Amino acid sequence: MIEFGFGISPSSRINLDDFDKEKWNKLVQIEPEILQCISCGSCCASCSGGVFQNVSLRSAILNIRNGKTDSAMELLKGCMLCGKCTMVCPRNINTRNLILSIYKTYSEK
Ligand code: SF4
Ligand code: SF4
Repeated sequence: MIEFGFGISPSSRINLDDFDKEKWNKLVQIEPEILQCISCGSCCASCSGGVFQNVSLRSAILNIRNGKTDSAMELLKGCMLCGKCTMVCPRNINTRNLILSIYKTYSEK
């Protein structure tokens, strides 16, 4: 049967109690450039991985800021570390380094 019509979207409620301040401070310490991100989306628009998988650095950064680190890691899982996004970032963020630092910070238990 063909799926048709509207459905209920999952809740996008943000629980800031989930925000891991300790890890965020650690990430900002090793990669202060994350604070320069203006969520412009240029990195996603040029992303090689985004063509094949759901890769989005912009959304990952927003998710981290909202305490949704699992979703952030999911959004970076398909990153090939090609560095293309580094060349287009208007804030001159070394996005490749940033992605590696996010991995390092949030994969540690
Ligand atoms: S480094 Fe990762 S996020 Fe950046 S363009 Fe390449 S695949 Fe996309
Ligand atoms: S291109 Fe740079 S400033 Fe724009 S969303 Fe990506 S990381 Fe942030």
